[in-house]
Amino acid sequence: MTEAQRLTVGERTDSDFTTWTAAELAEKIHSREISSVEVTQAHLDRISDVDGEINAFIHVSADEALAAAHNVDAAIAAGDTPTSSLAGVPLALKDAFVTTDAPTTSGSKMLEGYMSPYDATLTLRLRSAGIPILGKTNMDEFAMGSSTENSAYGPTRNPWDLERTPGGSGGGSSAALAAGMAPLAIGTDTGGSIRQPAALTNTVGVKPTYGTVSRYGLIACASSLDQGGPAARTVKDTARLHQVIAGFDQNDATSSRHEIADVVAAAKQGANGDLKGVKVGVVKQFQQAEALQVGVRERYEANLEQLKSQGAELIEVDCPNFDHALNAYYLIQFSEISSNLARFDGMRYGLRAGDDGTRSADEVMSLSRAEGFGPEVKRRIMLGTYALSVGYYDAYYLQAQRVRNLVAQDYAKAFEQVDIIAAPTTPTTAFKLGELVDDPLQMYLFDLFTLPLNLAGVCGMSLPGGLSSDTQLPTGLQLMGPAHGEDRIYRVGSAFEAGREN
Ligand code: GLN
Repeated sequence: MTEAQRLTVGERTDSDFTTWTAAELAEKIHSREISSVEVTQAHLDRISDVDGEINAFIHVSADEALAAAHNVDAAIAAGDTPTSSLAGVPLALKDAFVTTDAPTTSGSKMLEGYMSPYDATLTLRLRSAGIPILGKTNMDEFAMGSSTENSAYGPTRNPWDLERTPGGSGGGSSAALAAGMAPLAIGTDTGGSIRQPAALTNTVGVKPTYGTVSRYGLIACASSLDQGGPAARTVKDTARLHQVIAGFDQNDATSSRHEIADVVAAAKQGANGDLKGVKVGVVKQFQQAEALQVGVRERYEANLEQLKSQGAELIEVDCPNFDHALNAYYLIQFSEISSNLARFDGMRYGLRAGDDGTRSADEVMSLSRAEGFGPEVKRRIMLGTYALSVGYYDAYYLQAQRVRNLVAQDYAKAFEQVDIIAAPTTPTTAFKLGELVDDPLQMYLFDLFTLPLNLAGVCGMSLPGGLSSDTQLPTGLQLMGPAHGEDRIYRVGSAFEAGREN
């Protein structure tokens, strides 16, 4: 067997900033030993070197990133206190968040070249934290998919094996982290799109509690499930980014006023590796999942053993409704998609096709949608429209909402018994490009372990669980917490990371 071609970030070396953690970079930038411009340039160079092969970025904002870096350096040189613990550290932004200085496509031809007149709240938070934005990362069209192959801008390749997918929908952000093109990244997670690519690329990704990261300026997939979140290569870096982006926003009607947990302190607390007294739930229904690859199960069991050896108590929890979560998720998601994507009508945004003066508005709308949307998006719009139609609404959509409540109740019951739940993130390691793209049902099944969490609106993290012995590819350990229980997932995640032997 030939060695798979790999473009993962190298061993840490002093001379190569692309191998450093965000925390290390921030400290040296803030003490003026290195500059944000140098660090940003090093990452732009790495993008030039490897992204031709990986295709993690749809758009690279070199000038804008360097200008932002320069501003941070100038402020620090003038004696100002850095505006955040990550000021000067560059980031890769999923192309689902609008930006005024770069096009936003959401991976769709429908929005090719689209320039937003305003910045998303999350974009503004990054800017005011002094975080240079390197560019916009590749994704499945409108965040629909598990492999980034549904992007209109070509698939992203997994830096661990260029023949394989980095996962999706946020494959671009995770691949950028894994290949050392960025030390920080932003994703969105509707059913797993931050955690699943994190697992397949050996990086860390967090789906925050619903309502805690603003969706204002996030191009909607399914509004009741969508949540932006942080990603990085370490738990500590992810915690710092989490702190920058989370918080109430009056522009988002579903924004939560709940206090945001101090996740940086939680990660610090966990770093001593001690998990004595922590009750970790193991979901019976996940244990029985047939889809689990042998090597992934092995790593998961080893991960549980490690948690135990660090002092955690493992407790089996029963979540019977998780067996129906996948069906409910896709019904609800498709229904919301059919309504959300109605706004792309060839009139208000982006692509307009066939408008030659002879056609009616209806014809132009129809031609624009036919040309602008890819096959997966069309499939979901049609199925969602069907599920919402008169006579079917009660049988499908309403029924799915009932299941959603039951899934939330399963979590609530589980969190009466345990502090946190540990699960695999994905059933298998990274699959080959082209392997599942013509088999939508198999592709949907890939989200089995991640999507119950979005239905319930609770929080979760995926972090490296070690390489699978059968494929030598990364696996992810998923930690799930209750609503606003981010401090738990960061504490346990950081302890697990500290206790890892390999
Ligand atoms: N893979 C899932 C889907 O296709 C989740 C996508 C996401 O989280 N955006 O819906």
